[in-house]
Amino acid sequence: MRMIHKELEDFQLERGWEISKESADKSTESLLLNHLLLTTEIAEIAEELRRMLNRAYDMKEEGVEGEKAFQLAKEEVAEDIGKEIADSIAYLCKFATFFQRDIEQDIKNKLNEIQSRTKPNLQKRMKEGVR
Ligand SMILES: [Mg+2]
Repeated sequence: MRMIHKELEDFQLERGWEISKESADKSTESLLLNHLLLTTEIAEIAEELRRMLNRAYDMKEEGVEGEKAFQLAKEEVAEDIGKEIADSIAYLCKFATFFQRDIEQDIKNKLNEIQSRTKPNLQKRMKEGVR
């Protein structure tokens, strides 16, 4: 994650696409613009999901078995949804750069936080034999 964050940071810096640090006003404007762009990319993931679900529905209407239709539709959108996920990650990395965050460490910390919160449930489920 650190390597891809650095690669994205360099890529964005070379093009002047980083979130501005010139002044409070410029940073504010840049943060809001980049947040709009991030949410646009997230919406593009939703569009791909919608395309997949509509495609699966259409195939079922044409007589393709449900699980098969779902898998085929999933395969049809996989490459495009991957691009939108990548776009979204690129914007998230911009925010991480702006706030001088180590994303890898932040993810690890968050996982530990969630793990400590959810451990009792996990143990309970394991006792019950549910995975
Ligand atoms: Mg996109």
